[in-house]
Amino acid sequence: MTGSAPGASPAGGSAPFAKLGIRREQDLLLHLPIRYEDETRITPVARLRPGEVAQVEGRVVRTEVVPRPRRMLVVELRDDAGGRVDLRFFNFWGSQLKQFASGRRVRAHGEVRGGLFGLELVHPRWRLVDDDEPLPDRLTPVYSTVSGIGQAKIRAAVLAALRRFDWPETVPAAVVRRLGLPPMAEALRALHQPRPGVSLAALHERETPEWRRVIFDELLAQQLSLKRARAARASLAAPALGERAAVDRLLAALPFRLTRAQRRAWDEISGDLARAQPMNRLLQGDVGSGKTVVAALAAAQAIGSGWQAAMMAPTELLAEQHMRKLAPWMEAIGARTAWLSGSLRESEKKAARAAAAGGDVDLLVGTHALIEETVGFARLGLAIVDEQHRFGVAQRLALRAKLEAAAGALPHQLMMSATPIPRTLAMSYYADLDVSVIDELPPGRTPVVTRLVSEARRDEVIERLRGAALAGRQVYWVCPLIEESEALDLQTAIETFETLRAELAPIRVGLVHGRQPAAEKQATMDAFVRGELQVLVATTVIEVGVDVPNASLMIIEHAERFGLAQLHQLRGRVGRGSADSYCVLMYRGPLSETARERLKTMYETSDGFEIAHRDLLQRGPGELLGARQSGQMLLRFADLERDSELVAAARETADAMLASDPDAVDAHLERWLGGREEFLKA
Ligand code: ADP
Ligand code: MG
Repeated sequence: MTGSAPGASPAGGSAPFAKLGIRREQDLLLHLPIRYEDETRITPVARLRPGEVAQVEGRVVRTEVVPRPRRMLVVELRDDAGGRVDLRFFNFWGSQLKQFASGRRVRAHGEVRGGLFGLELVHPRWRLVDDDEPLPDRLTPVYSTVSGIGQAKIRAAVLAALRRFDWPETVPAAVVRRLGLPPMAEALRALHQPRPGVSLAALHERETPEWRRVIFDELLAQQLSLKRARAARASLAAPALGERAAVDRLLAALPFRLTRAQRRAWDEISGDLARAQPMNRLLQGDVGSGKTVVAALAAAQAIGSGWQAAMMAPTELLAEQHMRKLAPWMEAIGARTAWLSGSLRESEKKAARAAAAGGDVDLLVGTHALIEETVGFARLGLAIVDEQHRFGVAQRLALRAKLEAAAGALPHQLMMSATPIPRTLAMSYYADLDVSVIDELPPGRTPVVTRLVSEARRDEVIERLRGAALAGRQVYWVCPLIEESEALDLQTAIETFETLRAELAPIRVGLVHGRQPAAEKQATMDAFVRGELQVLVATTVIEVGVDVPNASLMIIEHAERFGLAQLHQLRGRVGRGSADSYCVLMYRGPLSETARERLKTMYETSDGFEIAHRDLLQRGPGELLGARQSGQMLLRFADLERDSELVAAARETADAMLASDPDAVDAHLERWLGGREEFLKA
């Protein structure tokens, strides 16, 4: 290793390089081109086609500054065959005029357009060349830049780094050979300086063996980092919560038997809790699969073992639903439940906090108010987080800090999610997580029939609603509420509510939305749960958690504005009882390509995994995991869908390396992360 004194920066500590994440010489090597340009060929003007990117060469015939429609510099070129093409520049300097002197030879690269007077290149990259200046024989790399560093400067820095820095192998040679990949040093060189004849398309698709090598190494770094984090956690002490008497009492008090899938998930969780290492488990199950009761059993085991439990949900409404469900179950086993949310009065919050700190409450349920600094627990043994991915990164970090601050031992953690995570994602982002899956719905559920209906048929939809309500069924009517147009959306939801109420009388219609005071919202929800309201008009607040088995019709207005995961969650609100259930997706055309795709998916399948898979294809993993907002270092080169088989290989290799060669692990992580943040810690 040369030229890489600790802390040495390629540009002597230059801020623009740091902005690109380049702090060490080796970081430059991983600053790989975002694309390539083909400057190896000159296209004769006669063969230029508008819309394509091409390189031309010719002599300056005329240079002119035209004032209108916008001040610009026009340089007319003639190539050797006499073809004419204009170069147009909107931003230019006086000196440029002189450079484009008549007769000078210019090479220009850019997108061809058909102009009023023939073909033109607008703002091409260009330079003056000699008569017999040779063409480069390789594709030209283009790098991402920030202001202060141009392409030329980055290229020069990368070339210098390539000369000075020798990238020693960190991956076992046998693995590299088995995967048929080139050595890393060779791969990096070939990506910065493509060999002559390499296909532009293959490079752009990242399909060459060189790209695959880099992608593999990146995925390997991710796996190693996550698995190390997991091992570190396993070495920490947690309270062993092994007393199951309260669990048995709760099971006996339940009005139903666990499904086989619930039983399996519960056995895994119960086993984890009994161990003296902190559990870090995700309980995944489709909407309505019955995760709450499993969480309640976990709380019972913690409480029965003499510790406290906390359950946190991302919204007040969802937390309230849990509270309502959990409180009687906890009462059945003689445990004390308390509630804490932001909307409580200060005195009430104070009382809840005091109860938690004094050990006077066994299960504290609430929103992210639970992780505020002022909340402390006497003996927190288990933290349950519902819809974990919906919390922001700051909140997840706060939770982690809270757990780590717990006196003596680290509490166990149980996360729950109704968003199924496709296998490759689970293997990758959740490599440090154990996963239990509830893949079976409780008995007695009926499949939901989905209908796509244009808004033009709104009257028919309302008639259908009336029919269902008169037959004693309950109905959800969901209106979109999108942040950017919140005021307008709210207005529309209120109008819809008023129209429906007038039109459907004496059928009773209620309204809930996020801007209502908590008490009002609660009263309306309660009335719907008790069956006093037959129709509930709602913005997406009912998305998660609401459980009304008698509701059998879900109408979603402007379905084209919802994401797939949301639509799936909403549809899961019906089909919970024995009646035939319907979900009507009402849309307003014309539909965008992606909206059409989403609605089609909803029509075609109700399998949460399939929907999550298509969601991933349509949106990319960041959004699915709420990771896009994280600003942390995510994968730069790998694509979990495209590179799924490399994810599997990286995972195996990581296990082998961790077992046999910790030094190589250190070297590999140092190379990729260099003391930067871990991959997706929170
Ligand atoms: P989710 O996984 O979406 O959180 P819930 O925990 O809210 O699902 O459960 C949905 C409904 O199914 C609730 O009314 C719950 O009481 C009920 N339920 C859960 N498990 C069973 C079971 N094994 N048999 C019958 N009903 C069940
Ligand atoms: Mg739930």
